[in-house]
Order: sequence, then C-alpha cells, then structure tokens
Amino acid sequence: MKASVRAVVIGGGVVGASTLYHLAKIGWTDVMLIEKSELTSGSTWHAAGGMHTFNGEANISRLQKYTIDLYREIEQLSGQSCTLHPNGGLMLAANQGELDSLKLICSRARYLGMETEMITIEEALALNPLIDPCYFIGALWRADGGHCDPSGTTHAYAKAARVLGASVERFTRVLELRQRPDGSWDVVTDKGTVHAEHVVNCGGLWAREIGRMVGINLPVLAMEHHYLLTEDIPEIKGRAKEIVNTTDYSGEIYMRQERGGALIGTYEPHGIVWSPIKTPDDFAMQLLPDDFERLAPYFEVGFRHFPALGRVGIRKAINGPFTFAPDGNPLVGPVRGLRNYWVACAVMAGFSQGGGIGLVLSRWMAENDPGQDIISMDVARFGAFATPKYTSIKVPENYARRFRLTYPNEELPAARPVRRSPIYDRLRERGAVMGANFGLEHALWFAPKGVAPVETPTYRRSEAFPIVREECLAVRRTVGLYETTNYGKYEVTGRGARAWLDRVFACKIPKPGRLGLAPMLSEAGRIIGDLSIACLAEDRYMIVGSGFAEEFHLRWFSASNPPADVFVRSAASTLCGVSIAGPNARALVEKLVRVDVSAAAFKLFHVVETAVGYAPSVLTRAGFTGELGFEIWTTPDYFASLYEDLCEAGESLGLVHFGGRALSSLRLEKAYGSFNKDFRPDYTPAETGLDRFIDFAKPAFTGRAAALAERAAGPKRRFVVMEVDAGDADVIGYESIMQGEAAVGYVTSGAYGHTIGKSLAAGYVPTALAREGERLTIDVLGEMRAATVRLEPLYDPKGLCLRS
Ligand SMILES: Cc1cc2nc3c(=O)[nH]c(=O)nc-3n(C[C@H](O)[C@H](O)[C@H](O)COP(=O)(O)OP(=O)(O)OC[C@H]3O[C@@H](n4cnc5c(N)ncnc54)[C@H](O)[C@@H]3O)c2cc1C
Repeated sequence: MKASVRAVVIGGGVVGASTLYHLAKIGWTDVMLIEKSELTSGSTWHAAGGMHTFNGEANISRLQKYTIDLYREIEQLSGQSCTLHPNGGLMLAANQGELDSLKLICSRARYLGMETEMITIEEALALNPLIDPCYFIGALWRADGGHCDPSGTTHAYAKAARVLGASVERFTRVLELRQRPDGSWDVVTDKGTVHAEHVVNCGGLWAREIGRMVGINLPVLAMEHHYLLTEDIPEIKGRAKEIVNTTDYSGEIYMRQERGGALIGTYEPHGIVWSPIKTPDDFAMQLLPDDFERLAPYFEVGFRHFPALGRVGIRKAINGPFTFAPDGNPLVGPVRGLRNYWVACAVMAGFSQGGGIGLVLSRWMAENDPGQDIISMDVARFGAFATPKYTSIKVPENYARRFRLTYPNEELPAARPVRRSPIYDRLRERGAVMGANFGLEHALWFAPKGVAPVETPTYRRSEAFPIVREECLAVRRTVGLYETTNYGKYEVTGRGARAWLDRVFACKIPKPGRLGLAPMLSEAGRIIGDLSIACLAEDRYMIVGSGFAEEFHLRWFSASNPPADVFVRSAASTLCGVSIAGPNARALVEKLVRVDVSAAAFKLFHVVETAVGYAPSVLTRAGFTGELGFEIWTTPDYFASLYEDLCEAGESLGLVHFGGRALSSLRLEKAYGSFNKDFRPDYTPAETGLDRFIDFAKPAFTGRAAALAERAAGPKRRFVVMEVDAGDADVIGYESIMQGEAAVGYVTSGAYGHTIGKSLAAGYVPTALAREGERLTIDVLGEMRAATVRLEPLYDPKGLCLRS
C-alpha cells in the first residue's frame, strides 16, 4: 500500500469505484480506493441492476443518461463486461394524475434529447406481454435504460481506473481520519496509515459512520428492500426480444425479465429501517431474512397486475439494505467547515446515478467546480434541521413514496412541523396551508373562513386557484402581508466586511442606509446566488437570499475565506421577517414608525434601523411583488408583537395575508426570477439578466473575468417570461419550449398571473428567439400550447407602483 496519495476514496461499491475512475480520468491518477472487504460487498452486490434516466430534476436526468452511456466506455477500457441489457423502460399509468405525470416527463425529455413517447396500453403490451391491461390507461416508453450486472459494472469501473493508474486496496478497513494542520488527512487503516490530500466518503451503508469519524452527522439511513426472482414464464419463452423493464406506479411495483423468468420488486408503504443507529462492522456480502408475511399483500398486487408472474413459482427472494437521504436524492460534495473532505453517499440508484456522481465530484475536486448545477444532489441542501430524528422519519416516508407521485402542489407530511416561526400558530389560525422549506414552515395560501385548509393534489389548477387569485388582487389593490422568515439570512460584520463583500459579490456594495441587489458568481461566471445586501453601517451588513440555499451559501461564504476581521454568521434563527406590499403599504407602516417613510424621504432600497411598533427592527423598502413594499426584520422575541401591531394597524387599510403561491404569481407578472428555480449555477449573468446589477468597473470580484468574457461575446440564451395559451393547467417546470418540431429551450417556473389574467411561463430560449412577441409552443401535459415571449414585465412595466 502506498504511503501517500492525492486522494483516498473510502468504499468499493459502485459509487466509490465510479469516483475512483473519474478522478483518474480527470488526471488525478495518484488515487487509491480503500475497501474493507471485497468490492461490491455493501449494498451493491445484490442490487437489481435496473437503470433509467427518470428524475424530477433535469440535470440529474442528464447525469443518469451520462451514467448509462458510460458503460460501453468502461467495458472497452477495462475489458470487463457490465452485462448490459439496454431494453428501455415502460412506465404505466392507472389514473389521470399518473398519466399527467408521464406527459410531463415526456415534455421534459424532448429538450433533454431523450427518446420518449406516450403510447397506448395496446402498444405497451407489445413491449411487455405480461401486463394485465385492465389496470392501466396509458404508458410512457423510453429508449434509455434497462439493466446491468451490478458486480460486473463495479469491477469494470475499478479495472478501468487501474488502467489509468489508480490503485485499489481490498480487505483494508479505514479506522480513523486525522486532519493535519495543512488540511490534508492521515487515513488510518488496519494495514497502516496513508497520507492523502483529500478523502472521499463513498461508504454507502457505512457513510454515516465515516461521517462520524470527522464529527459530522450525515442525513442518511438504510431501508430493507425486497425483490423476487420467478421461475421461467411460458408467456415470454421464445420471444426474440427481452421484455421492457416496467414500472407500475399504482401497484408500486417494478419488474423486468431475468433470464426466462422475471424479477419483481416493491416499495411497500411501511418499510423497515435497517440498523437505525449503527451499521454493523462485520456486515459484508450478506442478505437479510425474508419477510413474506409482511410483504405478501404488496407482491400480490404485482401478481394481479402481471398475472403470469403469479402462475409460476418463486426461485429466489432477495432482501437487502440500501441507503437514502430524506428526499431520495444523493448527498454529494464538500462539507462546510471541513477542508478536503468530500461525500458521495445516500445513492439509492447507483446504477443510474453512479457515473454522473463520479463525473461531477471529480470535477469539483480537481477544478473546484462541479461543472453544472447539481443543487438537487448537493449535500448542502440539508442543514442542521436534518437531525437523526428528522432523517429517521423522512427516509421511510420517501421509501414508501418511491413510486408514488408527488404532485407539484403537494407538501409531504412526515417530520412536520420541525422549524416554526413565532407566528406559526397565528397563521394557522388564519387558515394558512403550510409548506416546508429547509425544515421551516411557511404559508402557501390562506383558506378563508368556511373553507377547509386542504388542497387536492393535482397537476392542474386546484381549489386554491380562486383563493390565491383573491390574495393577489388584494396585494395589488390594498395591502398584503407575507412572512419572509423562510428567506436565507446572514450577518456580515467587522472592519474588513466591505472589502470582503466587494470581492465575493459582483455588485456595487451599497452605502450605509441602502440596499443592493447582489448577484454572486462562481469563478466560471455562473450564478451562485441572487441575494440582497443591506448596509446597516460600514462594518455591518444584513444579507438576504433563498432559504433553500442557506447551507449552500454559508459553505460558499466560508470557502471565500473571510479574513480575521470579518465575521459571517447565519441569521436563520435570529431574524424573523415580514413583507408588507401594496398601495396602502406606506400608510400601514407610517402608523407604526416615527421615521419619515414618505416617497421622497424613504425611496426604493432605503434601509433604516428603527422601532416598528414595539419591535426594534431593520426596515427596508424592498419586496418581490412589484408593489410599493417594505420588509421588516426583527428578532424572534419581538416578532409576535410586530405581527400583532401590523395586523391591528392594517385592519382599516384592507390588510390581507398572502402566501408563497400568490408571491409566485405576483413576481412572474413582474418577470422577477427566483433563485433555485429560474436562477441556478447553470446560468450566467447575461442569460439571467442579472448582469445589470454587476459592477464591471470593480477591479476584482469572483467570476469577473468570465462575466466580462460573456459580456463581450453575448449570451447564447436568455431568461424570458412567456404568456401561455393554457387550458386548465399552468406549466410546472422543465417542460420543453418548442419552435415547430425543435425543442429550443425549457421552462424554469410558471404560475397564473391573476392581475393580468394570463398563464405565465418563465424559461430560457436562444437569444435570437428572445424577441417581443416571438411565437413558440410549450408542451403542457401533452398539449401543445402557444407561448408568446414578452420582454417587458406584464404588470407595471415602468415600475411606477414599485417606486410610488
Ligand atoms: C435489493 C436491492 C435492489 C436494488 N436495486 C437497484 C437497482 O435496480 N438499480 C439501482 O441503481 N440501484 C439498486 N439498488 C441500490 C444500489 O444497491 C445502491 O444504489 C448502490 O449499491 C450504492 O452503492 P454505494 O457504493 O454507495 O454503497 P455500498 O455498495 O454500500 O458500498 C460501500 C462500500 O464501502 C465499504 N466500506 C464501508 N466502510 C468502510 C471502511 N471503514 N473502510 C473501508 N471500506 C469501507 C463497504 O464495505 C462497501 O463495499 C438496490 C439495492 C437493494 C438493496
């Protein structure tokens, strides 16, 4: 075993092997994989080997496609077969909701360049004759996908990595990780110590334990999972082609051909957590006892939906554990506060995702940038809220819903409420229907008296539609109150604060008493954040951004090396906020403050520290609705008083509460993009339009060279808002934008604009098509809908309300 390498990858499952291969491929050939037992001996060896490109996130779908396409490459390089069965995939719908979801997948796949088609059940039968058609109403077929041999595939990665110069140490257990003052690691094993600049936790079933070695608590948990292998099935005997891998949503079943028989698996509703506290050290190449009694009712559904499977015997049953994060996506990337420690774990679909994970992680390690937006699998999407208790409740919920649709208007109930603002109960009393963001409850819409605060999950407009309309209209006509506590909040203080902010943010840093819109770029000139900075004093700043991105932004701040005279801290739990918006907003605020907030004295983006009612607050003239608006920030102990004062003062002014749904509608009418939906690390300043907030005259800031180069060359695509000739459904996200038969762009967010009476879609189109009135189409749930580009905001294009 070498004494020193550039990076040690811990774990020889499919994810570790892929990571090793990609590190070697990117040029880090001095890398070592350490595996405590034989390769594949964790959850990899007994996997069903299914692979597909389906994921709710476009970029993860792309990475899954990359993974599947990669197998030929590693086969060639290693000489080791992956035993590929590229027989494609069928997804079956039993009801309208499922059919809508398949149509959405189909619309998304077009721009991703994936071969996908809606087909009839009769056509589906030709691809898989084992389906009982009476249970289904439609299907989606996709060319990508199939299955592979888990062991062959893992060995192909490892052998290909060795060909490139990497080494693999089997039967060597990592016992301890000790960090040296220079940030490198002593990796202590039972066969000696290896010094490595970087370590990667690909520990799969033991990822939690390898996290504990460095004092972190990764939100990852293993669940037991069963599949069965049947004896030969006469109905498929002699078929020229293998049947197509099939997913049955309503039955919560997946099945595929395995030699002359079938493999059938289920994700049952009351799954069993495996080793909730600690994974046994000596577990290797092992299965768990079958539990047919518990699982029989769920497999029986499969035998009804695929009757031939029920007519033959069961050859073998597999029950094995594998890991999940609370939302089912992997945990990838660097961990805040830990230099040179990387994770690639909680991978529940290693044969669809392993290659893509290796690709982005190797880029991240070697080039300091994953190369594309992967927020949805970034370990930083979880923060302190993802405690072991949270994980232990959320993971089983996710497991149970593996094949259950989560509708775009659906909020999952497990582990709720976790984080609550001081006015949570008051909002609930007012009929608030809550969502959770970064563990924090926030209002989506408010059910009026006499209306139940519940919503039917759907891809189309729900019963909340007319209620949200009333909320929007009230903001435009009188005044609305929206709780902003769920935004990401940070404080930056100290003598060096301005200089540091100047380097980290691309904008001009505002003067005391002013607020500025603040894009933050990666070195490659991609949008890392779209925040606002309020300057309270030369050495004191309040920064507000997306709540979802809190850990992501904190990690970015800490990687931006604040010097000793700069203090950066999260204000997530120390600041609560409320936005007051609408023509009567000033009249309301005036009742509670002693400072002059008149139009002349307190202009857009002014900031003042003042009492608002009882509450010592930061008052800013800002908002996201396009109306005259104020945001008020105070500490949690004053927040309920502030809220009461606002409600009382607002009563005679027509104050209404509005929620996140109304905000989405109001902001799109103003063509404001939102971070994580419209603005993400895939996009550039000129594409998003955020270049208008960049101070190009500044001599230095992160991403400056790339932003200047882009400005010189001009963007290839642009963020636009389109009016959609919609039916009873508005766009959701990632639908393809078409020009004739060609997919030219995709949707990033959508809503119905209630003030202007039009359905709206935001998205990216080639610059040549970003023209006023350009006529395009969008596939909305299988129907081609006319979409017209609008370059000016559809509401108050001159910003008169905003500035009033
Ligand atoms: C029944 C079943 C069916 C499945 N079907 C599919 C499927 O069809 N398609 C699909 O894509 N996925 C499937 N999966 C999931 C798939 O198995 C996982 O996504 C994949 O195996 C995860 O790989 P990994 O490398 O992250 O983890 P693991 O395979 O668990 O690998 C982790 C490795 O780390 C090693 N290790 C741990 N601690 C140490 C240490 N201290 N020192 C050295 N080495 C250490 C372990 O020995 C182990 O080999 C299935 C899983 C199960 C259980």
